[in-house]
Formats: sequence, C-alpha cells, structure tokens
Amino acid sequence: MKTCFNCNTTEKEIPLLDLHYQEGKLFICPRCLPQLIHKPTNLVGTLPGAEKIQPADEV
Ligand SMILES: [Zn+2]
Repeated sequence: MKTCFNCNTTEKEIPLLDLHYQEGKLFICPRCLPQLIHKPTNLVGTLPGAEKIQPADEV
C-alpha cells in the first residue's frame, strides 16, 4: 500500500502523487504538497535533505 511519506495517508483514502527524489520514489498527498512547494522546511524529519530545498516562491 502506498502512503504519503509525510502524513502516511494511504492511496485508498486520497490520491497520491509520485515524486522522484534522490534516485528513489516517494508519494505525497495533495494536503502535504503545498508544504513541499511553499514550506519545504516543514518536512524536515520526514524528507531527507528538506532543509536544503528552496521554497518555490522565493526562487
Ligand atoms: Zn500527506
């Protein structure tokens, strides 16, 4: 069962999006996606290297 890497919601409950990251594959749900876009540092702890990702609106 695929789950959102951040909140562990399953693909049964919500559509998940595929991410390709560091040569691997992750899944994220639409509720967590805005954090990845705007506040990637919120994902520190669940996403390795999140502290190095620039928020999209600051680029
Ligand atoms: Zn999620």
